[in-house]
Amino acid sequence: MLMRSNPIYDYVERLSELLRTDSRQAGAVHGLQPVQLEVLHYLSVCNQYSNTPMAVTEYLGQTKGTVSQTLNVLEKKGLLSKQLDKNDRRIYHLKVSSKGRRLLNNTIPTTMFVNACELLTEKEQSEIENSLKKLLTTLLQANNMKTFGICRSCRYNSKIKKENYFCNLVQQPLTNDDISLICREHESNISLSET
Ligand code: SF4
Repeated sequence: MLMRSNPIYDYVERLSELLRTDSRQAGAVHGLQPVQLEVLHYLSVCNQYSNTPMAVTEYLGQTKGTVSQTLNVLEKKGLLSKQLDKNDRRIYHLKVSSKGRRLLNNTIPTTMFVNACELLTEKEQSEIENSLKKLLTTLLQANNMKTFGICRSCRYNSKIKKENYFCNLVQQPLTNDDISLICREHESNISLSET
């Protein structure tokens, strides 16, 4: 029987393989496996409601055990630290250290990816970004998965005045920096047809 083929799937699969190989090489220089680099990267771009072991588990879709081992490796290497929550002592937050941020600056995006982007015009990069965003949003919505989107595009985000925002879910003010971070509670403020 003929295999079903989907060119979008084939392209995404090939891209994933290439990026995974490149990421493996980039991480190996620092003694890190791809999943460890991925967790460090996630923690550098997520907000204060999303930097817990539970959120990392949800984001990666990995088991608690795998995430726990990964976090221990990153902590031992001095790339992150664990800090107890001020209000709930059962929860701790994971903060990327300055050493971890330096490592990420030198590693992500990987050289292979940067080389490719340099050959694309800004318009081409913008078109690819929009298409990939639509594909990702559709995939997440079609499968009832958390979006982990950027705060500024969340339906709970209200602009109070210039550079002042408010989260209507957790009822807390948000800064200009906060709204550029990704959040486990994010819910898109646009419908699929608008993405
Ligand atoms: S506005 Fe949305 S994305 Fe931003 S902190 Fe609140 S729930 Fe998270």
